Amino acid sequence: MVNKSLQIAVTGLIQGVGFRPFVFRIATRHDLTGWVQNTNEDIRIEVTGTDQNLGCFLNSLSEEAPPAAIIEKITSLEIKTVSFPSFTIRDSHNLSDKITEISPDIAVCDDCLRDIEQHDNRFAYPFVNCTNCGPRFTIIRDLPYDRAKTTMGLFVMCEQCRKEYETITDRRFHAQPTACSHCGPHYEYFVGQEMISDRIAVILKCISVSIENGEIVLIKGLGGMHLACDAFNESAVKKLRDLKNREGKPFAVMFRDLKSLREYSEINPEEEKSLISWRRPIVLLQKKKVSGQQKLAAGLNVDLNLLGVMLPYMPIHYLLFDNLKTKAIVLTSGNFSSEPILIDNQAALKQLSPFVSASLFYNRDIYNRTDDSVVRVIGGHERIMRRSRGYVPAPVRTALNTDGIVAFGAELTNCFCVGKGNKAFLSQHIGDLQGLETTLFYEETIAQFIKLFRIEPTLLAVDMHPGYISTKTGLNYGNLPVFQVQHHHAHIASCMAEHGLDEKVIGIALDGTGYGPDGNSWGAEFMICDLNDFERITHFEYIAQPGGDLAAEEPWRMAISYLYKVYGDKFTELKLPFLSKIETEKLEMIPMMIDKNVNSPLTSSAGRLFDCVASLLDLVQVATFQAEGPMRLESLVISGCTESYPFQFIGAISFDDTIRGIIDDINSGISNSLIATKFHNTINLIIFEFANSIRLKQGLNKVVLSGGVFQNKYLLEGSIEILQKNEFEFYSHLTVPANDGGIALGQLAVASKRRELRCV
Ligand code: ZN
Ligand code: ZN
Ligand code: FE
Repeated sequence: MVNKSLQIAVTGLIQGVGFRPFVFRIATRHDLTGWVQNTNEDIRIEVTGTDQNLGCFLNSLSEEAPPAAIIEKITSLEIKTVSFPSFTIRDSHNLSDKITEISPDIAVCDDCLRDIEQHDNRFAYPFVNCTNCGPRFTIIRDLPYDRAKTTMGLFVMCEQCRKEYETITDRRFHAQPTACSHCGPHYEYFVGQEMISDRIAVILKCISVSIENGEIVLIKGLGGMHLACDAFNESAVKKLRDLKNREGKPFAVMFRDLKSLREYSEINPEEEKSLISWRRPIVLLQKKKVSGQQKLAAGLNVDLNLLGVMLPYMPIHYLLFDNLKTKAIVLTSGNFSSEPILIDNQAALKQLSPFVSASLFYNRDIYNRTDDSVVRVIGGHERIMRRSRGYVPAPVRTALNTDGIVAFGAELTNCFCVGKGNKAFLSQHIGDLQGLETTLFYEETIAQFIKLFRIEPTLLAVDMHPGYISTKTGLNYGNLPVFQVQHHHAHIASCMAEHGLDEKVIGIALDGTGYGPDGNSWGAEFMICDLNDFERITHFEYIAQPGGDLAAEEPWRMAISYLYKVYGDKFTELKLPFLSKIETEKLEMIPMMIDKNVNSPLTSSAGRLFDCVASLLDLVQVATFQAEGPMRLESLVISGCTESYPFQFIGAISFDDTIRGIIDDINSGISNSLIATKFHNTINLIIFEFANSIRLKQGLNKVVLSGGVFQNKYLLEGSIEILQKNEFEFYSHLTVPANDGGIALGQLAVASKRRELRCV
């Protein structure tokens, strides 16, 4: 048999997921010699062997890759035959400074779960991990990814762990956080400030009893502290709401397994795929109507039919459910509303332990704070709503030169983004940049990303809003050129960058709010744009937003504003149930504010229109969480209805006739469900009509959809359907949030394009 040699390059998310040992194993299995090595951009392999063995090797390479590896491309090239004595893993230390990819955290794998049941040193040991699973990003202080540069650095491996770590055929070969009950971290159980036990069997028993008794407990998670209670216990859930000072925002629930989860949620195969993936996000699912069996606490997600659910992902979760009778626990971030999730044991002990029955900490530090990620399957694809644990810091690969660009993001649900080469590293979910704690987290994390990914900032990008903390942070960052990017242009550019588009497109941004260059608050923009610039073609007609930001929290203000616009003073004579709930002085105040232009900025926001309709149907008058109105409205939508309301185009898209139609329907006793559905259909029709008119005039056929409103499943699926039917090429977000969490990527893409064109 004649030997041949191949030079192979593998790109993708392949660092820190056991890829090189995997290559070693399959190469030796197929009788090949050669080597494997990490480089800056990829993993390089040279192998020598027979034709047949090389073929099998290539097959194994793509078919059997470690679960957390994401292979983007394998290229192979035949080279002059080289003879190697054996197969080796080559050192990559000389390249270490350039290696920038870090694996996100990976849910504990099945092999490790078996170790918890059997392995001598790892029996009931809650920190098991291997090259296929375990903490990654949350424990990394610096690169290269070596144990010493993680928060595992303080733990000295015992003899057995060391042996496994050094044995190339072992599952723990070069598993940086490897540990066992002899040498690794451990949990400690506190009541109040007092440490009661560090024995896992005792701890599990005590915590389980607390949860079963309807108490709240604090459990240190992978990326931060969690507060937990029995998801079936109404009073425990109420207690948790009071503790967190969180009135209405739904709580996420962790089920013990898929079987229990199925009893309470409708779940399709795509949703199941997300739930059991190694990223283990919170998946938003339709609640099942259950009869006869135990019901989940109604207070989890008051009257919403969406439920955020997840499956266990840390060994401690599995051990806990082994001791618990309940099928599900609430697992919510350990913080007070609006503050970032706590990561420090001492801080949590001080701030939260007075309010909980018990606290469970472990003695390994969390270095990079992450929240649980949130996804929703829309149109058969996973869409990310909150991008954090399990997803960050995997980069978005772009076709642009992003090097040295720092994009600061928006104000609410902030994420920032840094560029290296052609990659864009979007930060984990930071939160709303209003509280001091969140702002500190924001500044710290920017500094950490710059250090971790070896970024030398040369260009900055910020929003146009002068009042955003992110804008101010960017403008004060240093003596560097700054591009201010319009909010909705950034939304569209973000979706373009995600899909590698760099051309003129039809951009449709339906959103809550964003600063417009005319000084008004924009939020439903139909534009022609490329990465460099945009032209606003049309938008929802401007309407007064009485009370400014307050109107986003109090949807009734938008309802009155629309009613006053359509019916004038006569709106008070309309027989609408919701009007009776609002005090007369307030009803009189709004038209006065509008007439005198007192704190009533103009807006074209789609979010505010949804708020208005939610208020008209008396679903929400004062929101208890962000986007409650739109969520409740979507919650009512029924399938099979194709009716819609009329709308007009009078220089902008006017909803006067839509509002009249809705009021007539309310007065005729038409159900809220039907009205909500007709309203959604109207927006879908508008998306199509205006995309189509732009296509006819401009000859563009690519439509890019972005903005927070596209987190609405019915709306996005409806848009996709109508655009597809009419042969548009359309693009919507998949791996980057459609909400403001995706803005920074768009800012970065615009800045990169402008630099390229203007040689900044
Ligand atoms: Zn494992
Ligand atoms: Zn050990
Ligand atoms: Fe936005």
